[in-house]
Amino acid sequence: MSHVTCEEVPLRRYGRALPGREGPTGDRERALDRQEPDPGHAGEGSGARMPDLFDLVVVGGGVIGLSVAWRATGRGLRVAVVDPAPAASHAAASHAAAGMLAPVSEVTYTEEPLLRLGTASLERWPAFAAELSRASGHDLDYRTDGTLDVAFGADDLAALDDLAAFTAALGLPAERLTGRECRRLEPMLAPSVRGGLLAGGDAWVDPRRVTAALLAALGRTGATLVPGRVTGLLTASGAACGVRLESGGHLDAGRVVLAAGAWSGSLEGVPPEALPPVRPVKGQIMRLRSPEPVLSRCVRGVVHGSHVYLVPRGDGELVVGATQEELGFDTRVTAGGLWELLRDARELVPGVTELEVTETIAGLRPGTPDNLPLVGPTIVPGLDLATGHHRGGVLLAPLTADLCAGEDTGSVRPAELAELAGLCSPLRFARGTPGPSPLSESGLAARERDFTENTTREHR
Ligand SMILES: Cc1cc2nc3c(=O)[nH]c(=O)nc-3n(C[C@H](O)[C@H](O)[C@H](O)COP(=O)(O)OP(=O)(O)OC[C@H]3O[C@@H](n4cnc5c(N)ncnc54)[C@H](O)[C@@H]3O)c2cc1C
Repeated sequence: MSHVTCEEVPLRRYGRALPGREGPTGDRERALDRQEPDPGHAGEGSGARMPDLFDLVVVGGGVIGLSVAWRATGRGLRVAVVDPAPAASHAAASHAAAGMLAPVSEVTYTEEPLLRLGTASLERWPAFAAELSRASGHDLDYRTDGTLDVAFGADDLAALDDLAAFTAALGLPAERLTGRECRRLEPMLAPSVRGGLLAGGDAWVDPRRVTAALLAALGRTGATLVPGRVTGLLTASGAACGVRLESGGHLDAGRVVLAAGAWSGSLEGVPPEALPPVRPVKGQIMRLRSPEPVLSRCVRGVVHGSHVYLVPRGDGELVVGATQEELGFDTRVTAGGLWELLRDARELVPGVTELEVTETIAGLRPGTPDNLPLVGPTIVPGLDLATGHHRGGVLLAPLTADLCAGEDTGSVRPAELAELAGLCSPLRFARGTPGPSPLSESGLAARERDFTENTTREHR
């Protein structure tokens, strides 16, 4: 892998007026011209000159990259986001996602650190949604009516009882319901539903509206959107100083955040020990439509051993998801995947088979070896990660933005924010192998030591 340095890049820096407003440009300069803000997107109408040096360049314009960028512009930073299809990349997880903000009903016993991150981010969602709606003028379809987990058989009911006890022990809101109580809440549920658990604090949102709103809000702040692909990290004296673009240009930056979702695991110029161990986890999902709302809240269940969920939108859309498949960068929608989703959804809500199918899609979740995200500084000074959010990137977007900005919009104490940052620190994988549990203090200390040693070596 070749390591390109800023000094080696012969192109001039940004800082010219927009194309056509200044003198003729040569070929290489035209390559740069293509990186000017895209009309209709962020930066529109600003008429501003491109900065010589961005404070922050974000690689990837999914829900994570855009949230990080938006929070950074709020702090007065000069920000650029680079993505060939921001908020709309067909295989991107954010474009496929259902949008459940459901840390409680997603929780499993082995994932307590993830639950802590999820609840901390859920706490931030009301303010994040309100601020983003105000800043963009967009309605996010953000709803807070909770998630209903339902069960059919004795085993499922026992699992719900365990989950109820676990959530109660953690002090999280969850109410055990009988089958009849479930149907009173959701009359379209199957008569065979025997019980449920209502996680009243869970919420949901339309992720496509969120990313559209983030783009609009970024546009109003004068952030720069660069429609293209990043092909490499630029470094100077071992520190990140910008990115190389596929078109041949480059952007100089004080700091680079790699937020390219499932594609974050390979970027030329990033030393192997700093590359995030992210893999694509395929999720097939379908969108149905009904003239009348079928459900008033998210409904989930385990059918034939697999999880299925139904997420209603305000406009009559019903999202049914999702498969979890380890097939690399495969984004084919398959008959088998859709059949399983419909088969299981029909067990929960028999009426779904009457609904119109409006879309089927597969997105790639950025999975990590321990299912925890990778957010924060790497062993390369100036290079941060914001990736690896796997099944919960929409939920975790506000917290991720706070962690990257180093400021708290929630109510946790600074020590707690530092602990949350520790849970998702990329340094736990700094040498390519998972370290001790991210919850253990000694583990964190060991990783800090690793960081210092690695950094020292880098600088030698
Ligand atoms: C079917 C499905 C359902 C889901 N449901 C939920 C849910 O209900 N709740 C929840 O919280 N989460 C859910 N998720 C997970 C969530 O969608 C992800 O965790 C989240 O979207 C990750 O966001 P991201 O911005 O990191 O990645 P992505 O959304 O994948 O965005 C990555 C971006 O990086 C860009 N990119 C890639 N390479 C480059 C490059 N070299 N240069 C520039 N740009 C590049 C891509 O074009 C893309 O736009 C779901 C995911 C799937 C697939």
